[in-house]
Amino acid sequence: AKDATAEMLARIEQDNVKFLRLQFSDIFGMPKNVAIPVSQAEKALTDGIGFDGSSIEGFVRIEESDMLLKPDFDTYTLLPWRSHETAVARFICDVHKANTQPFEGDPRYVLRRALDDAAKDGFVFNTGPELEFFLFKMVDGKPTTLFQDVGGYFDLAPSDLAENVRRDIILALEAMDFEIEASHHEVAESQHEIDFKYSDALKTADNVITFKFAVKSLALMAGLHATFMPKPIYGINGSGMHVNCSLSKDGKNAFFDPNGKLQLSETAYYFIGGLVKHARAITRVANPTINSYKRLVPGYEAPCYISWSASNRSAQIRVPAPRGNSTRVEFRSPDPSCNPYLAFAAMLAAGMDGVRNKIEPPASTDKNIFHMTAAERQEAGIETLPGNLYEANEAMLADDVVCNALGKHVVDALTCSAEIEWDSFRTAVHPWELERYLATY
Ligand code: ADP
Ligand code: MG
Ligand code: MG
Ligand code: MG
Ligand code: MG
Repeated sequence: AKDATAEMLARIEQDNVKFLRLQFSDIFGMPKNVAIPVSQAEKALTDGIGFDGSSIEGFVRIEESDMLLKPDFDTYTLLPWRSHETAVARFICDVHKANTQPFEGDPRYVLRRALDDAAKDGFVFNTGPELEFFLFKMVDGKPTTLFQDVGGYFDLAPSDLAENVRRDIILALEAMDFEIEASHHEVAESQHEIDFKYSDALKTADNVITFKFAVKSLALMAGLHATFMPKPIYGINGSGMHVNCSLSKDGKNAFFDPNGKLQLSETAYYFIGGLVKHARAITRVANPTINSYKRLVPGYEAPCYISWSASNRSAQIRVPAPRGNSTRVEFRSPDPSCNPYLAFAAMLAAGMDGVRNKIEPPASTDKNIFHMTAAERQEAGIETLPGNLYEANEAMLADDVVCNALGKHVVDALTCSAEIEWDSFRTAVHPWELERYLATY
């Protein structure tokens, strides 16, 4: 560890770093950071840096607020959009309590715990997310919902005015060691998707946080507002974060079986079985905002019924065509407002419950679910995802596997926040109501 610290310090000096940002996430997946001058680097890398956890959402009460940030050396990177004379580097940190035990409310720890549990059976959990976002105009320094372009799916310039911004974003991400696989204009006006290569779920969750931060920073430098809000505009597609999942064992893809049905292994089928069984509870963390449920409605590619298919994109869980090392299960309900650490932890715990308890998935749904009648769906045993945050929270509370994976601290904090959010939304008088009733009654 001493050598690693010395090496890290040498690298920091070599990179001409003047400030270090020690980053972590609150319960909502919002990145927080403490900036320290490089003179404090040695202390940060050896003892960690103390901070007051009581002011962080979902963390702790005043009485037990002394916490410690422990930089994860693997996450060191320069922030490429800052000047190189006064370089800024960041670490993503684990959060410890003053007694140096990991803190149960740290989302990164929740995911680490789920990964360690799967590792007992020799599994590594890999995730590859597809984040969609909108680029909107800023007016007088404030974000709006004014489109920056009117392009459509896979359009090219000149309708795709955002091409330059997207290129800057990609160059910055590549400078931060992301492997970008593709980027394209999405279905809606001003909507974009940039895909980066999958990794183990901890690295991917770190990447999701970094990705959102980089996209927002670079958009702002171009005078635009990037938003990962799930459904910013009524009537057009929302933004999703499909999560491609696979398990590997001994370096091999454990979902692939050349002799299996559809060339999928039993492990893959049981994993799907677990995802289906716990889909409603996972929704609490995969779709954590009031607005998330405006996306999960029929008619816009986003799922609202619990189902799986190897062929059909209207299903919640899809098995994309590639096999071999690329064999994966695509979970299509999550949106980019989720805390990726918690969402991945819940998905993995659900999948592992399937694998360990040999949960058979239901029959696959190979026709367009949105064209089925309610009676046909009932006949096929297709259940519905929760329709709002309140319902999703109830589903989480009713699910021991998901609650266990998240841990009591996080479940309590999520429940408290869902109650406050739901109550505030439920009692607000929305513009829709005024439009509908003010003149009539
Ligand atoms: P789509 O066809 O749904 O648009 P994309 O090509 O946009 O899919 O994204 C596919 C994602 O799946 C990428 O992030 C890719 O790295 C990831 N992926 C590929 N193989 C695996 C795997 N074995 N496990 C997890 N994710 C994977
Ligand atoms: Mg895609
Ligand atoms: Mg789409
Ligand atoms: Mg897409
Ligand atoms: Mg997809």
